Amino acid sequence: MNQKLNLSVIGVGHLGRHHARHLSEIPQVNLAGVFDTDRDQALQVAANCAAPVFNSLEECLSVSDAVSIATPTVTHADVATTSLQAGKHVFIEKPITSTIAEADELIGLAEKMNVNLQVGHIERLNPALLPLQNYQLKPKFIEVQRLAPFTTRGTDVPVVLDLMIHDIDIILSLVDAPVKNIRASGVSIMTKSVDIANARIRFKNGTVANITASRIAKDQVRKIKIFQQDMYATIDLSLGLTEIYRLLDARQDTDAIVTAPLQQDDNQRQIAYEKPKIDAGDALRMELENFVAAIQGREKPIVDGRAGRDALAVADKIHQMIIEDLL
Ligand code: NAD
Repeated sequence: MNQKLNLSVIGVGHLGRHHARHLSEIPQVNLAGVFDTDRDQALQVAANCAAPVFNSLEECLSVSDAVSIATPTVTHADVATTSLQAGKHVFIEKPITSTIAEADELIGLAEKMNVNLQVGHIERLNPALLPLQNYQLKPKFIEVQRLAPFTTRGTDVPVVLDLMIHDIDIILSLVDAPVKNIRASGVSIMTKSVDIANARIRFKNGTVANITASRIAKDQVRKIKIFQQDMYATIDLSLGLTEIYRLLDARQDTDAIVTAPLQQDDNQRQIAYEKPKIDAGDALRMELENFVAAIQGREKPIVDGRAGRDALAVADKIHQMIIEDLL
């Protein structure tokens, strides 16, 4: 397809303005314009991207092939429904919607209209996570910590839907089995909803994931540790640092830095340490490029509506358990 895709951004606040900037730079895209209920905000972002400002959602949809929605989560269902009903491809920021029923409706509508629905689970494309694709992963235990200094942005939803859902989506993409059970607890500190949450997810294949998310922290921490037979991977999503330790046969030739051979029964084994090179890619740019490529049939969607819905379903269950626990 040589023709440029007319793509607009709906909601150009903290994150949406970056959608607009990236889309204005993607060669296959014509940034058709931006729409925001805060007109001053729309004018400012549009000026930076040399794009038109729409006066209404309807005007925006009338000239767009596809839209990227970065409005507050509680508005996702309404804005996406109108866009899908108009036959537009939709990229929607995470979480897909506030409720599972809303997510199901969007997925059904996208199928009915035969258009793409993708969700902005940006951490899937975090450059520190991408080297894991070169290893055979069969996690037995996953430990995740995501801590962030407090800001009022995102507090329209509990921390599970705002922060923890990133890690839930990553974990669901790493573990090839359904969820068996979930335990969760949490507390409310600064807002009326849950600000700190911990969940333990057990999968039917035996994998256990332990996740902590907090929006009350001094420093930002985003760390994932993956333990599996003969391998330990530690990933710092904030620093962009991935380190892998593998237990290998001592005779195996490897460039990795190794410990002295370890005597284990009759086997000589060694621990190999690898620090994969992290490409300095921009995850937001990559996910928007994937959206465009998927519409044009060049790539498969990395996070489709169903994946967004699956992450929401687990997040919702965790949140419900926390609420029941607090009663
Ligand atoms: P924000 O409040 O900074 O921006 C939202 C913008 O949407 C505002 O400018 C507001 O005026 C506009 N808006 C509100 N309702 C609208 C409507 N019906 N139509 C058009 N415009 C409307 O919020 P934000 O922090 O940019 O978050 C937006 C979304 O992005 C949320 O769903 C959030 O969860 C998500 N988000 C994702 C990440 C990530 O890492 N992927 C990070 C931050 C936010």
